[in-house]
Amino acid sequence: MKWNADNKTFYSSTSWRKLRTNKLNNNPICEVCNIKPATEVHHTIPLSSTHGKDNALNYNTLQSICFDCHVAETIFERTGKRAKVKLTQRQLNNFDPPSQASTDHNTADQ
Ligand SMILES: [Zn+2]
Repeated sequence: MKWNADNKTFYSSTSWRKLRTNKLNNNPICEVCNIKPATEVHHTIPLSSTHGKDNALNYNTLQSICFDCHVAETIFERTGKRAKVKLTQRQLNNFDPPSQASTDHNTADQ
């Protein structure tokens, strides 16, 4: 498996796409909030780590997740802070953790 900065090679690989489809079929509801339909598959071991890369195709490390929860999980992995915020995919891609992120405003709950 080749790895580049944004893991594009991995995410476009046939083996990942098959695994992802399997996971979403088996767990169609977000495993974090258990409410929304899962639209994405989350690596519980961050792909930025070597351990994460080694387990990138390990079904047991995957989690079906909705977009909102995926954003929160990604922010948590990058900053260590639990945040419930709504960001666009573009903002998420450009996410640069501020030194003191404000997590006071909870907009994810209905
Ligand atoms: Zn969710």
